Amino acid sequence: MYLVGAGPGDPGLITSRGRDLLSRADVVIRDALASPELLDLAPPRAERIHAGKRGGRAGADRGSVHRLMIDRARQGLCVVRLKGGDPTLFGRVGEEASALRRARVPFEIVPGVTAALGAAAFAGIPLTDRRHASTVTFATGHLDPGKRGEGTDWEALARSDTLVLYMGVRRLAGIVRRLADAGMAGTTPVALVRWATLPEQTVLVGTLRDIAPRARAARFDPPALLIAGSVVRLRHVLDWHARLPLRGRTIVITRPRHQAASFAEALRAQGARVLLASVIELLPPRTFAPLDRAIARLGAYDALIFTSANGVARFFSRLEARRADVRELKGVEVVAIGPATAAAVEARGLRVAMVPEEYRAEGIIEALSRRDLRGAHILIPRATVARDVLVKALRSRGAEVEVVPVYRTVRSREGAAEVRAALRSGRLDLVTFTSSSTVTSFAALFRGRRDARLLRRVPVAAIGPITAATARQERFRVVVMPKSYTVEGLTEAIVRRFRNSPSGTPRGT
Ligand code: SAH
Repeated sequence: MYLVGAGPGDPGLITSRGRDLLSRADVVIRDALASPELLDLAPPRAERIHAGKRGGRAGADRGSVHRLMIDRARQGLCVVRLKGGDPTLFGRVGEEASALRRARVPFEIVPGVTAALGAAAFAGIPLTDRRHASTVTFATGHLDPGKRGEGTDWEALARSDTLVLYMGVRRLAGIVRRLADAGMAGTTPVALVRWATLPEQTVLVGTLRDIAPRARAARFDPPALLIAGSVVRLRHVLDWHARLPLRGRTIVITRPRHQAASFAEALRAQGARVLLASVIELLPPRTFAPLDRAIARLGAYDALIFTSANGVARFFSRLEARRADVRELKGVEVVAIGPATAAAVEARGLRVAMVPEEYRAEGIIEALSRRDLRGAHILIPRATVARDVLVKALRSRGAEVEVVPVYRTVRSREGAAEVRAALRSGRLDLVTFTSSSTVTSFAALFRGRRDARLLRRVPVAAIGPITAATARQERFRVVVMPKSYTVEGLTEAIVRRFRNSPSGTPRGT
């Protein structure tokens, strides 16, 4: 049984210990503030339980969470209790630990980055500073400011160089009044940080005197932290987050989920809010027979052409399942359409003979233009439905081409509801496409007249000319296409576009 700090929000801010434990968890019980994306780190078969309540809204009650932890741990399962920030700060770890101890369930506590530290780093407010503050106080605003004598030492709070208040936003006006009464100067700089470390992060700055009306006017809701003290003034120097080129931008990724992670990570690192709409899903082909026949006679081919990293992965996993041996490929020339595909091949210990200059089917044709292909046996393992310019061109040059399906794509609605909501509220800045099949599947999800019309106004980024052409056919407005048809190239092109965009004033602060 592990009580694990999930960090303040950004899933990258969990400790490596926490990440390890999650990766082998049988059961994950998470709080409302623990990042839901962290659940992706747990094995697919793990039981996932949401046990959060926020701001008094109902959730699983304390007792039932305790019973759940004890019950699962007693079954000998690896149980991770995932708590927002650090478990020992305003996280009721004491109550949970006591319940476990009473039940004689051994446990470990794994620390996490608490919200105050996340907010300080991502809003650019140093909690101490030689010139401004040598002490910092973490306190909870979950006190009733109307009640007297319940033990809160407001004078002590008012005296701290830097004061960080958790859970205070709902009672902000009362808290501010008590701090002022206790002697905190009305001119003390105050920052409210909402959804710290996440792309949705917003920061509101004022003084003790005006922060409450400002927060009301801005409808500043929880979860947020209040940071009071002259260190707030240092923000203009330290605030790196607001300067990120994709800050405040909402970008849709339409790749299958298992391929989206690195692209999403790259966009987030530049400050974007990423919506994942995995509009296609990869499944095994309806039959493996043609592939199995090809595998049985690998040595007979002159060349093997891979047109996607997915094709490589599926091809080799079938090879393994059939207990075939890569040595059968001795003497077979391996061609990959682009660098990611080539890397996938080379990761399996096979050298790629050729990657075309232009990463698309036409590039392969061009690269082979000077070869005599008459009578050459070429194997192309790829998706069931794919463009056949390559096949046609190779055949016209006398090659014997065999296309064998290694996977097929089906449409999926995952993430569509979120995209629709962002679209309708006018918050979509860019939709990205990394293949033609994602374009058609994505368009098919938004056939309704109103959505279709709104969608055609959203700028689109396409990974290469084929994808861009498909997108234009679907009447999308393609504004970004990289020179190099890779995800890295696409990310760079997107950053450049928003950096240079005249209307590119980032939203939020
Ligand atoms: N154990 C947690 C705190 C739990 S109390 C930790 O160490 O961070 C919940 C309060 O934490 C919220 O009401 C809010 O004040 C603060 N909080 C948690 N995550 C936050 C975030 N991402 N941004 C701003 N405040 C946050």
